[in-house]
Amino acid sequence: MSRETLFLLENAGILVTMNPDREVLDNGWVAAVDGMIIESGKGQAPEVIEGRPREQFERYDATDCVVLPGLVNTHHHLFQTRTRAWGPVADSELFHWLTTLYPVWARLTDQQFYQGALVGFRELMRSGCTTTTDHHYLFPREASAELIDITVEAAREAGIRFHPTRGSMSRSVKDGGLPPDSVVQDEETILADCERVIAKFHDPKPGAMVRIGLAPCSPFSVSPELMRDTARLARKHGIRLHTHLSETRDEDSYCQEIYNQRPVDFLETVEWLDDDVWLAHGIWFNDDEIARLGSAGVSIAHCPTSNMRLGSGFCRVRDLRAAGCPVGLAVDGSASNDSSNLLAELRQALLLHRVKNGAAGMTVKEILEMATLGGAGCLGRDDIGSIEIGKACDLAVYDLSAIGYDGADDPVAALLLCHPEPARSVVVQGKVMEMNP
Ligand SMILES: [Zn+2]
Repeated sequence: MSRETLFLLENAGILVTMNPDREVLDNGWVAAVDGMIIESGKGQAPEVIEGRPREQFERYDATDCVVLPGLVNTHHHLFQTRTRAWGPVADSELFHWLTTLYPVWARLTDQQFYQGALVGFRELMRSGCTTTTDHHYLFPREASAELIDITVEAAREAGIRFHPTRGSMSRSVKDGGLPPDSVVQDEETILADCERVIAKFHDPKPGAMVRIGLAPCSPFSVSPELMRDTARLARKHGIRLHTHLSETRDEDSYCQEIYNQRPVDFLETVEWLDDDVWLAHGIWFNDDEIARLGSAGVSIAHCPTSNMRLGSGFCRVRDLRAAGCPVGLAVDGSASNDSSNLLAELRQALLLHRVKNGAAGMTVKEILEMATLGGAGCLGRDDIGSIEIGKACDLAVYDLSAIGYDGADDPVAALLLCHPEPARSVVVQGKVMEMNP
């Protein structure tokens, strides 16, 4: 019989559970067996926890710390960490930014894809993120065809929970798309590799460290046939679907011109208006489209920094949530952020919505929900996003004695209102990763 792995975080100054009652516990503790939470509470952890003596647990002292459920990042392009702050597009909008960077990305090597992923993971974890996705849509002719495998290997090295999406681009300039020939693949190759990575990596079990999604890049880089075929393939395997949608007005014009449809109508035509879909950005929806997305249960990955950086616009987060769309937060790729600091993204989201709607236009509580439970909803997971019995033991530990929080009154609000400090540790599946020893 294999020995159980026992983990106990104790003495947390504040434990923010995000459970259905949204309990916030002073002096809290969390116990886990084999990476899954078995009990939590406040005060001193009991001598015996679910039949196991306390001294048998690996113990983590979280005195003076705020502990959150590990943050969930719902959209990224990890390879873009190799092209941050790219000079020629420092002040560009999306389409010019993309067409300038595609040829640069086409020259990336396997080693750079690996390094890019590792840098992204470590930066995310350092900010308190324990689960991330990656929208990998770029498969240059010169690079390995097995780039998803490379990012999964980097995730295992970093120790982060990972939802890679097998992205794709099939519609190059010669077919009326935006990307050059050097970075697109034919649809047969794409679908075969989707099947391959699902069979090799997808783990549907609770506590899974790797789950695959499928993710054609955008309406201006794939064909409608590939969108539809990808959706059918994903549903055959119970896999989630992801894409960029309604990021810019240029995209609206493109869809109108090429498909004679708005992006949401296009989405419906290709069988994507469903609750196994999450969309990056979702900025230019009208009222009717928000209602349709909400009734279908489509999720949205909100990327405030990227949207501000590229001047793309303003996602109607509250309206989408009210309509029934799960909304998560995301850093987006590091060529349009140019950072993978997810805690900083929470702050950006809070401040952005206040610019538009006033100080009551977005609350700390709403942002925390989006960064945890909302993110879990986007990824279709009910085993992460809160500190509850039966869920994975994924935690973000922030030390309130860091100088940036000095003098703060409300320790939870401080994480969003003060300038973000690195997490002291994250815990992924009951395993401690020291981030700022
Ligand atoms: Zn993106």
